[in-house]
Amino acid sequence: MGTIADNIAEIRNNIALARQKSPHPDQDVTLVAVTKMHSAEEIQEVLAAGQTLLGENRVQELLDKYDAVGDAATWHIIGHLQSNKVKYITEKVVMIHSLESESLANELSNRMQALGKTMDCLVQVNIADEESKFGLERDEVLPFIKRVSQLPGIHIKGLMHIAPYFEDPEDVRPIFREMYRLFEELKALELPGVDMEILSMGMSHDYQVAIEEGANMIRVGSSIFAV
Ligand SMILES: *Cc1c(COP(=O)(O)O)cnc(C)c1O
Repeated sequence: MGTIADNIAEIRNNIALARQKSPHPDQDVTLVAVTKMHSAEEIQEVLAAGQTLLGENRVQELLDKYDAVGDAATWHIIGHLQSNKVKYITEKVVMIHSLESESLANELSNRMQALGKTMDCLVQVNIADEESKFGLERDEVLPFIKRVSQLPGIHIKGLMHIAPYFEDPEDVRPIFREMYRLFEELKALELPGVDMEILSMGMSHDYQVAIEEGANMIRVGSSIFAV
């Protein structure tokens, strides 16, 4: 175990290795450093290591850290977002990974429109885990995207998936593969107003497998902060 900077260097190295086995070896993989439950001091170390793209899954935590860290960081919301919290984050985050309901989409679009802006969004898909409360089922994804992509304040940029936890990350490989297949199918449709560019999947435990199966954005928390 080393410092936060060592951990980030190791993750970047692992990303480069996994990428070579992926469907697009020369495509970049974007690392989102997930800072939930970690202090502003720890986040400063992340930033000092050159990792400025950060993710939070709770609005209140994001707001606290946003104030502590200032504009040195770029933020994504990666977890369930309630419609009544949207107003707090419209000017603080550049992407929402967890778009999964029309009420959220409508509220977000209205707020963004009032600002004269659009928000980049990923649609959260839940293809594997019936237990999980959040995310659209496979068959719901296309009709949902067709509807919400018409909203003027929203720009659909891809899909996000939270995989179920398996002791052996190899066991999640078929699910990542299925997500990639869905992603490619949707991309091929070239839906108007939709840029199917980002597939956000893979966390500390399984990001290498996710990249090998086609993820081009990963969300990593605990591996960064384990020192
Ligand atoms: C916490 C969290 C992560 C990061 O998980 P780690 O296992 O700590 O890497 C990724 N995505 C979401 C949605 C999370 O809530």
